Amino acid sequence: MAKILVIDDDITIQLVLQHLLQEEGHEVVIAREGKDGIRKAREWHPDGIICDWMMPSLDGLEVCRQVKAIPDLATTFFILLTAREEVDDLVKGLDAGADEFLSKPVEAEKLLARMRAGLRSRTLTQQLSQKSALLAALVEVQGCLLADNSTNGCYAQVISTLGRALDASHAYFWEASPDSPNLNRMRVDWFPKQYRHNARLGVQSPHSSYPPASWLQLLAKGQVIHTTAANLPASERQILEDLDIQTLVLFPVTVNGKYCGFIGCENHSRARLWDDSEMDLLRATVSAISLHLERSAAEGEKARSLAALQESEARYRAIVEDQTELICRFAPDGTITFVNDAYCRYFGISRDMARMGSLVPIIPDLTRDFYTHPVVTREHSLILPNGEVRIHQWTDRALFDDQNRLLGFQAVGQDITDRKRAEEEAIKALEKEKELLELKSRFVSMVSHEFRTPLTTILSAADLLEYYIDTWTATKNLEYIQRIQTAAVNMTNLLEDVLFIGRSEANKILFNPKPIDLSEFCQKILAEIQACLATNHLITFTEHFVNFELIHHENRNDLPKSQQPVLAFMDEKLLQQIIGNLVSNSLKYSPIDGRVEFHLIWGKSEVKIAVKDNGIGIPTEELPHLFESFYRAKNTADIPGTGLGLAIVKRSVDVHGGEISVESELGIGTTFTVTLPLISLSS
Ligand code: ADP
Repeated sequence: MAKILVIDDDITIQLVLQHLLQEEGHEVVIAREGKDGIRKAREWHPDGIICDWMMPSLDGLEVCRQVKAIPDLATTFFILLTAREEVDDLVKGLDAGADEFLSKPVEAEKLLARMRAGLRSRTLTQQLSQKSALLAALVEVQGCLLADNSTNGCYAQVISTLGRALDASHAYFWEASPDSPNLNRMRVDWFPKQYRHNARLGVQSPHSSYPPASWLQLLAKGQVIHTTAANLPASERQILEDLDIQTLVLFPVTVNGKYCGFIGCENHSRARLWDDSEMDLLRATVSAISLHLERSAAEGEKARSLAALQESEARYRAIVEDQTELICRFAPDGTITFVNDAYCRYFGISRDMARMGSLVPIIPDLTRDFYTHPVVTREHSLILPNGEVRIHQWTDRALFDDQNRLLGFQAVGQDITDRKRAEEEAIKALEKEKELLELKSRFVSMVSHEFRTPLTTILSAADLLEYYIDTWTATKNLEYIQRIQTAAVNMTNLLEDVLFIGRSEANKILFNPKPIDLSEFCQKILAEIQACLATNHLITFTEHFVNFELIHHENRNDLPKSQQPVLAFMDEKLLQQIIGNLVSNSLKYSPIDGRVEFHLIWGKSEVKIAVKDNGIGIPTEELPHLFESFYRAKNTADIPGTGLGLAIVKRSVDVHGGEISVESELGIGTTFTVTLPLISLSS
């Protein structure tokens, strides 16, 4: 049952006590004197000691004092045998640490009963102190894990506390990869002082087969391994023997339900398995470590998310700030909440100034439906503080949260003024090019037609003359010669016209204005045209005077002198072009017995020349193109023409600073009106 050491110099008492105690089932060791008793107690660790007070060299009181001073023996149940029963002696005995006094002669029943009670209470005390030591260890472990955030130092302390509390020869925490439990590494380990030499050995050359792979599989499945080496199959026992391990306990650790390693304790000196209380401590420690690992993982995850968020924020900010685009953000009510550097630089303002009031007040467009049109791009003209007008293109994007609630807007803008202008230039250049192409094609068709006709005339007349010159009469020959001359003159005129247009394109039209009597000048030209007419056309000339009250007068002399128009100051050659072309067109595009009206309308500072006919008219859609070079309306059919007359008229009018307009109705007739400014000679 228990180990009892009897220390007495009296051989009879030794034998009696030995017999009594062995009868009770105890193991008994005898010491004959005090020193021997202390030595045997130190080596044998008895549960109880029965010691005689009065002994020759060292008395029982001193033996008791010395034994109780040995930590491992402090709880040993100590009975002092004494012949005396005085109170003083009892006090001395108690002071020395004795638990019980029995007087000699020893009463057997009494001794055994006292011994039983003492051993029971010792066991209880031992259990209690072990429990409280385990509890203290658990408190230390938990305090340590709670105080620590993530470092390895905390595990080193936890494992050493655990190892110490479980009286282990080696304790450790091995980490395993959750996906591959065989991938292990010792995270921390601990040896008590007397086993420290193993520490170096263990870390530097761990047994390559420890822990066996089959154990790792069991641990990964959540199984606890608690065994003595002797109970294992030979191969596994050999591994443990190589490492001096007699017993061990391995306890799996999980993080969020996933296996992540194990906590282990070994016993090297004795084959001691751990009791329930110790296993409870181990279990509680493992749970605390699991929790700590979970917390660390969560915090690590949180820190990683935060770092990722900060990094992405920094990256986003850098992108936004590096943009040359102007970026601003608005609250749902339209107030500015953010502007980037480019925005501040562009408008020459600080961020604070920008927040106080937007320079682009109509952005964002708060009137639109953000849900159907979350992104809108529009152009917007803006006057900068320096008065410059710039064109911007803004893309407004409505921003929503997870619940689809409007958070605000982001507007990204860029100055597209230069691009716009370049586009306009390009369009103009394109139009010009198109115009030139059309001009070219019209020119080619005009030349091929208008030059070929006179050339054919010249060639055929020359051929006939060559052949018949000797047979034809002189009159007939002259007629053909004149045909050749007329055709050549027409070609020369045509060339003149082309050259005129060429000069006008280069702004090289000669403008030589001088005072002329416009009325007389017009009438003279009309008379010449009329005289040359081969048709029955009638050309009429009418002159009107319009005073300030818009009253018509037929005669200049009817007007008071102060209101008579001044003399015209014009270029005769250009004027001849204007009148000649307008009148010849009226004749050409009206019936041979048609009437051409020529009106000269005098105002105070301008004069109008209106040429009206009752000819074929001009299709409305073609009116805008009439003054382009080589342009001919589609209804001209086979009426010959070059498309140059009106272009020449227009340029001649322009040079005078005047205007030309046309009114026409198909099949009814056409009226061209030229308005020329009158230049006061006195001014
Ligand atoms: P063209 O040599 O063809 O007459 P113009 O430049 O003088 O060239 O006139 C351009 C075109 O304008 C003509 O081809 C014709 O279609 C139209 N046009 C000019 N004057 C008249 C008019 N009095 N009546 C009808 N069409 C006219």
